[in-house]
Amino acid sequence: MTWKATLVRERFEWKDAKDILAMELPQSPKSDFIFWKAHPSGNFITKSGYAMLVENRIKDEDRLNRDTLKVLGIVWKDKILPKWKVFMWRLMFNGLAVNSNLSKRGIEVGSQCEYCGYMDENIQHVFQTCSVARLSWMVYKIQVQIETLEPINVKKWVQNYILLFHSEDGSNGSRIEGFIAMLWSLWVTRNARVFRKDGGHARTVLQQVEVALRTLSVFQQSPHPIQIDPVPPDSEPREPPGFLLVQLGSNQNVFANFVLQVDGSWDKKTKRAGWGWAYKDGNMEMVVFQAGGGDYGCTSTALQAETRACLRGLQWAKERNIMEILVFTDSLILVSELKKQSEYIVHVTWEIQEIRKLAATFNVRSILKTDRNKVEMAHVIANKCRKDGSTLSFRIFGVNLFYAASLIVRYEIVASKIVQVL
Ligand SMILES: [Zn+2]
Repeated sequence: MTWKATLVRERFEWKDAKDILAMELPQSPKSDFIFWKAHPSGNFITKSGYAMLVENRIKDEDRLNRDTLKVLGIVWKDKILPKWKVFMWRLMFNGLAVNSNLSKRGIEVGSQCEYCGYMDENIQHVFQTCSVARLSWMVYKIQVQIETLEPINVKKWVQNYILLFHSEDGSNGSRIEGFIAMLWSLWVTRNARVFRKDGGHARTVLQQVEVALRTLSVFQQSPHPIQIDPVPPDSEPREPPGFLLVQLGSNQNVFANFVLQVDGSWDKKTKRAGWGWAYKDGNMEMVVFQAGGGDYGCTSTALQAETRACLRGLQWAKERNIMEILVFTDSLILVSELKKQSEYIVHVTWEIQEIRKLAATFNVRSILKTDRNKVEMAHVIANKCRKDGSTLSFRIFGVNLFYAASLIVRYEIVASKIVQVL
């Protein structure tokens, strides 16, 4: 048997016809049968159906192209301040809290630019088209073109320049750093204008660049600069390097300004556990982490203590009406479990489910696996709660004030270290 090619071509679209003609035909007549193509056996299995759905969803998501990966790789490998790296990453994924992004998320802000009054302050406006950005680039030592006629995709534009500088200067060139320093300065100046009503003219931006470049050179000369991760991401490029990320909230593309660190502490011999959390509210311009709370109890594993810390921290944030949250944990297993949709490690099944359920009620919520030093304050609280068998609640001051005060002093010291890293 063969296909009647002319007939097929007549009746079907070109591409469908091609696919049909490419199909093999049995040599003798056969009855039709149902075949489930997501499993090699052809039999439908729930698990394979599920896997197929998940795979389709991943395909649907905006996949990163090679250029983006390459650019992220270049940025991560560059010896620049870690906070610049995170900033660049947010810039590339439109995760910066510009007014248009905030309005989209239902936060009451005017969406216009504080500098020129332009109605829609989006990232393109902040970094390219606002008059202050335009003028700053115009007089800057690094030549960067800004198309004025057509709307430009900022991500593409940033990408193109980094690739260009990289190809022309190699890894040792300073133009990439200069380019990032300018982007950073435009952002910092914009924030000062929005939060502190500093005028923030082009002159301020350029002074800011000088400061940024000086900070960078000090950083580069220090013997042990803090590197987040020298390895560029490849498999999960939506995450900053060194982070494992799970997004559980309804809006997946932005980062919250409210950061919660959670950590558990566990003693194998006694099975005694403590958990604690600390927070930093970017919306309130807080620069150091503050103690959130903590508690103690018994758990069968360390993971369970981590899970409990995460759950309690989130519940606490929920009570305070926080709607957008970014959680830091140093537990890789916890984040891996949260990434799954089912079949959790059996002894934390219920709490993982609780966390996922609670997560769904936040507008924006992501959980990041970070280094231990980024959850240091939560760690101190968890340890303290476990060792002392104490409960800590800074909202209602369930501990005696002297104890609370001594903790705060210690946290401030720890926190100042953390801020540098962030
Ligand atoms: Zn403007």
